[in-house]
Amino acid sequence: MLLNLASCQKCKGDLVHQGDEWRCLQCGTYYYPKAQQFPEAIYPRKTWSINASIQATQASEVRWQSSNREIIEQLSAGSTTRDIASLTNHSPRRIQSVKERLLQAL
Ligand SMILES: [Zn+2]
Repeated sequence: MLLNLASCQKCKGDLVHQGDEWRCLQCGTYYYPKAQQFPEAIYPRKTWSINASIQATQASEVRWQSSNREIIEQLSAGSTTRDIASLTNHSPRRIQSVKERLLQAL
């Protein structure tokens, strides 16, 4: 069951989704999404911004993984920082920071 807390325009009550309409649990007012009478109830801004930040995190994670792919592969294969540094021409400091980030993600 979908709930939209403190979203009633009349009484700031909680809306419950029933069929294609929202009803306030406290005062019983109905809101119909099709009439666009209550857009905030269907797409609360809070939800959007949370989703957006999750997507941003994932996108930067993907970029980070692809730019460090060589290092990650070598680390997974059990190579030492020094081996990876000579194989990939990356600085030991960078390899160390990749290693730390991978450990944090575990
Ligand atoms: Zn209400």
